[in-house]
Amino acid sequence: MIASRGVAVSVVGAGPTGALLALLLRRRGFEVTAFDGRPDPRGVPSMSGRSINLALADRGIHALKSAGVYDRIAGAMVPMRGRLLHQTGTAPAFAPYGGREGEAIYSISRHRLNQALLTAAAAAGVELKFEHRLEDLDVDAAVAHIHDARGSRRLTVPMNPLLAADGAASTSRRRLAALALVKADEVDLDHGYKELTIPAGPGGRFLMRSDALHIWPRGNFMLIALPNADGSFTATLFLPKRGAVSFESLDSAATVRDFLLGNFPDACELVPDCVAQFRDNPTGFLGTVYADRWSVRGAIGLIGDAAHAIVPFHGQGMNCCFEDCVEFDACLERETSWEAVFERFFSARKPNTDAIAAMALENYLEMREHVADPKFRLRQSLSLELERRHPQRFIPRYSMVMFHHEIPYRVAQNRGSIQAQLLERIAAGAATLDDVDFDRAARAINRELPPVARDLDPA
Ligand SMILES: Cc1cc2nc3c(=O)[nH]c(=O)nc-3n(C[C@H](O)[C@H](O)[C@H](O)COP(=O)(O)OP(=O)(O)OC[C@H]3O[C@@H](n4cnc5c(N)ncnc54)[C@H](O)[C@@H]3O)c2cc1C
Repeated sequence: MIASRGVAVSVVGAGPTGALLALLLRRRGFEVTAFDGRPDPRGVPSMSGRSINLALADRGIHALKSAGVYDRIAGAMVPMRGRLLHQTGTAPAFAPYGGREGEAIYSISRHRLNQALLTAAAAAGVELKFEHRLEDLDVDAAVAHIHDARGSRRLTVPMNPLLAADGAASTSRRRLAALALVKADEVDLDHGYKELTIPAGPGGRFLMRSDALHIWPRGNFMLIALPNADGSFTATLFLPKRGAVSFESLDSAATVRDFLLGNFPDACELVPDCVAQFRDNPTGFLGTVYADRWSVRGAIGLIGDAAHAIVPFHGQGMNCCFEDCVEFDACLERETSWEAVFERFFSARKPNTDAIAAMALENYLEMREHVADPKFRLRQSLSLELERRHPQRFIPRYSMVMFHHEIPYRVAQNRGSIQAQLLERIAAGAATLDDVDFDRAARAINRELPPVARDLDPA
């Protein structure tokens, strides 16, 4: 175990990753200071005035429970048990996410989650310094330069080590890349996003079904909406940045109105000011970060989105970051030097973060296009039926990722591709589940898909 008594560790970035990591480090006895460029979010309403939410799933919940902070958040979580598909010209259709009892994902306010984590970190003794922005790194001198906006001064902070949890656009990672100490590719998606609020009805009533993630799949673009605890929904429009139908082409109130009303009439009915919201809310960018290493000389380590940001289509970015924190904590238990901790962490996590990065990209096509395809929907119900019949062997890939923290992402990805081939064959020629030969399916599954337990403990 690495020595912690009297050791001062700095964390840069007090978002979900930095806050949880700081808490876990403090619990191990380190003296932890966490710096964040933003003002303190505790005790104030969301800065943007909008409620922005995230899907929290089993991996994130498991990490929050391990850190003892789950109870601070549980009351604010809104369960989503499946997708509600809004297709043009038909009534909305519900498809459950999982086949087992209690399988759901949860919508949680980003602001509230961050507040709860910071409160827990401060209560444990983490020193939190807001409006402190990391500006530069001097790796040879092993110091970071941090600007204190409140005191208008520049601090020199030793990298003793420094853990960089400063998000997808990480200054730390970009600085290390500029110094050729890390090779990092930032691969932008050619789609961006914009958030719109669907307000609560009278008395805080939900205006749509609240236990679902709503999807309006429209081929090359889509709208989704997640419920908030106050009865509102946060909708997110994902759309190409450029091209015939794109953020660039929607350049006037009239084109925006025609686009929104033409494609999402039922949602627009609930958002009377949708055109104004579209105009006023920022357009966000999406991308994947691939870095060939996450640490330098045992002095600085990247973690969370700073190391491996992914696109949001599996609802796993933050869940994955929370899993990072738990894994990092486990590495602290097993190693005695920072270099060894960082190496063990990278070897354990990189195959898994690469796997979820790929699955998240695949899921975009699934959400905006495939979910509307009857063949895809048959394969989904078939997956759940096969899981019911063969629970030790066949678990739908979505379920492995969202409901099984004990199955690493890489294993979910590998088993998922075997299962996809099996499904293709088992569903060939079937229009409904009644057409499926389940005896033949059982033989194929027993032959080609080992029990999950064997992949988790190959010995
Ligand atoms: C549209 C969208 C939807 C998403 N939906 C989901 C979802 O449903 N489920 C899910 O699990 N994930 C989701 N994600 C991903 C999730 O938001 C991220 O994975 C998560 O926020 C990463 O946490 P982080 O702490 O590593 O980085 P961030 O949340 O980006 O936090 C970084 C922190 O560092 C601070 N900082 C940045 N630069 C500096 C600096 N130079 N000096 C000091 N401080 C600095 C910032 O102020 C911030 O507080 C979504 C992402 C997007 C874009």
